[in-house]
Amino acid sequence: MTIKPILIHPDPRLKKVAEPVAEIDEALQRLAEDMLETMYDAPGIGLAAPQLGLSTRLLVMDCAKDEGARPHPYAMFNPEVVWQSDDINVHEEGCLSIPETFAEVTRPAEVVVRWTDPSGEAMEDRFKGLWATCVQHEIDHLEGKLFIDYLKPLKRQLITRKMQKLKRERARAAS
Ligand SMILES: [Zn+2]
Repeated sequence: MTIKPILIHPDPRLKKVAEPVAEIDEALQRLAEDMLETMYDAPGIGLAAPQLGLSTRLLVMDCAKDEGARPHPYAMFNPEVVWQSDDINVHEEGCLSIPETFAEVTRPAEVVVRWTDPSGEAMEDRFKGLWATCVQHEIDHLEGKLFIDYLKPLKRQLITRKMQKLKRERARAAS
């Protein structure tokens, strides 16, 4: 397995609508494994293919992060929300593409998601709490949408400027 570099906002590849996956081959199964490895290494609880610069409708997540909790990884191809609750939930979100930045986002408290697993099997499950927040956040990535797009323009601009500065500093450190 390989740990891949994660794109940092702003980047046009994070704003693109990702392409559906027609057939899950070995390369895509390997990509799902690499994404899980990359996510655990970060560490994070979710990662979507566009964050690696790939226009592929694939996300991974594992929100079982309590101490002693067993890993519960998901890899979802072509995920879609097929039902959402009227109840809403406000959760402080972060993103591996927007490091060290957190903001409250309001989303449906529960969702039912349908997807294809790496073996090609059709799956459906209901998510609530942190899992619901996470899966909606990751599906947004496949639509080219970031959690800061839910914030007021001024706040979003401040965060974008902070990220531009961070990217400049990282580029300088790497050169
Ligand atoms: Zn994210």
